[in-house]
Amino acid sequence: MRYWAWFVVKLAVAAAGWRGMLKLVSRVFPPEKDLLAPLGKGVSFLLCDLVLLLCFLLFAGALYLIVWDQRYRCRVCLRRLRMPVARGSWSRILLFGRPQIEYICPYGHGTLREDDLHISGLSAAEWTPNSGDMWAELCAPGKDSDRA
Ligand SMILES: [Zn+2]
Repeated sequence: MRYWAWFVVKLAVAAAGWRGMLKLVSRVFPPEKDLLAPLGKGVSFLLCDLVLLLCFLLFAGALYLIVWDQRYRCRVCLRRLRMPVARGSWSRILLFGRPQIEYICPYGHGTLREDDLHISGLSAAEWTPNSGDMWAELCAPGKDSDRA
């Protein structure tokens, strides 16, 4: 819930910035009432179109950065995921699995697994939450060896 609320907050802040930028553009280039105005003010209309194109590129870039930033955040504490670890093998896919990159939360809330092999487009990353008990996970391999 907190994860999606943070995403919505970032989108709302970006939307407010975009709205302010569009108001500034409309103030600099007021709408024309005359239908033949483009004939007399061609350079002004061209400049307005260029500014709107730049605004669109800024909007698209900001949206991309917001989604990219959100993808690499912890789902619990919203901190940036760290310590990328390459898993699998390119030359031994059948033996060690497909190449993946794992990111972890510095506070151990979970792991994000992202495929490094994109055969049919971009696949969704897989978030695996860790259990709250760190010691149980650390001692789990030892329990198997105790039984044997
Ligand atoms: Zn976390």
